[in-house]
Amino acid sequence: MSTCGMCGDPSTAGGARLCELDLCQNCYHGDPHQRLVSRGFSISAERFTTRPNDDNGTLQHHLVMTGLLGRNFGVKATFRREGLGTRITKLFRKEIQVGDPFFDQLVYIDGKSEPQLARLVESPEIQSVILEFFSVPATVTLDGPFLRAEQIEESAPPELPLWRAMAIGLHYFERQV
Ligand SMILES: [Zn+2]
Repeated sequence: MSTCGMCGDPSTAGGARLCELDLCQNCYHGDPHQRLVSRGFSISAERFTTRPNDDNGTLQHHLVMTGLLGRNFGVKATFRREGLGTRITKLFRKEIQVGDPFFDQLVYIDGKSEPQLARLVESPEIQSVILEFFSVPATVTLDGPFLRAEQIEESAPPELPLWRAMAIGLHYFERQV
C-alpha cells in the first residue's frame, strides 16, 4: 500500500489516484483543504450568482477558490479550455511549444510570454493539474503567489471536485523549480 501523495498518510485504502498522485481516503473523499492547512497552505472559497443581461436571464452560479502559494512565480496567466465561451488571445501559444499535442490543443493560455511561465507549462505535473481543473470544469489563473480557480454552472456546483483540484494545484505549483 502506498503513501498519500498529498498528506503523507501511510495508507491510501479507499482513496484514488488523481494527477499521478495516490490520494488517501481523506484527501479524495473528505476535505483535502484540511489536510493542506498543516503544510502552511490556505484556500478560501466564495460563491456568488450573476444574471447575464445578454440572454434569457439564466442565473449563473460561480464558485471561486483562491489558494495562497508559499512562493511568487512573478507570472500572471489564465488557463482556459477551448469552448468555455471566452474569446482569448492566442498570440501567446505561438511563442510556447509545450510539445504535448493533446495539451496544446486543449489549453489556451492568456498571459505574457515569459521564460518562467514557459517552464511551468512544460512541467508534466502542471499540465496534469491544469487538465484536472478543466475536468471539474474550471478556469484557473496563476497570479503572483495566488492560484485562483472559477467554476460557473447553471446550478450551484458541489465543492469537493474544485477543492481537490486546488489542493493538487497548490501541491504541484509549490514544488516547481
Ligand atoms: Zn491524504
